[in-house]
Amino acid sequence: MPVRFTLQQALAHWKTMKDSLTTVCQHAKGFYNQGWLMGTSGNLSYKVESTDANEGGSFYVTASGLDKGNLTPADFIWVTAGATPCLAEETRKPSAECLLHEAIYTHVPSATVVYHIHSPLWTFLSSQLPTENLPSVLSLPAIEMVKGLGAGSHTEQLAVLVLPNSQAMPELVALLAPQWEQLQVSGFVLQGHGLYTWGASPFEVKRQVEIFEFLGNQLYLQQTVGKA
Ligand SMILES: [Zn+2]
Repeated sequence: MPVRFTLQQALAHWKTMKDSLTTVCQHAKGFYNQGWLMGTSGNLSYKVESTDANEGGSFYVTASGLDKGNLTPADFIWVTAGATPCLAEETRKPSAECLLHEAIYTHVPSATVVYHIHSPLWTFLSSQLPTENLPSVLSLPAIEMVKGLGAGSHTEQLAVLVLPNSQAMPELVALLAPQWEQLQVSGFVLQGHGLYTWGASPFEVKRQVEIFEFLGNQLYLQQTVGKA
């Protein structure tokens, strides 16, 4: 059974996370201004290190349906296994995609932060793949910026996993299960939907979001202008 906390306990815990969550809000605002989190879309989360009181692990995730251009640290819900709020009296709903964040934290122990954006670019690029062939990959351009996603040199070819979109989160989690070992980058794309990426700090994940966007732009240019 997940551990549930009183309001007083939850508030005390939230205060320890407030500065970290403030940084995530600032990043969300930047992504919103870029058009990557429009219409309340996307979600962001921050893992809590396990404690004796909460052995199963937990994280803070954005509540459902919020304007990502105006987030505050109070807009995050503390959840544990199965998207269960840690605060017994929680009345807000965590983001619908909470279970995917949980899957990432479960399979990637070094992940502390997960950002999920609905970027128009990755929505378009992933939509170009035949749905019947998914899961599949999109090859990233072998250019200098791939080093930002872990490539050893600018000539290394990396690819990002593309999964079919679904409203059934357990279905997506199951589709991801056999893919973890083969991921070449800390991220994946849901077709026609958006990008997930994770890392050890808000700074690292923000940087990756920007690099994915840069490489996606280059891929788009290669597919269009480059073919003209
Ligand atoms: Zn989404």
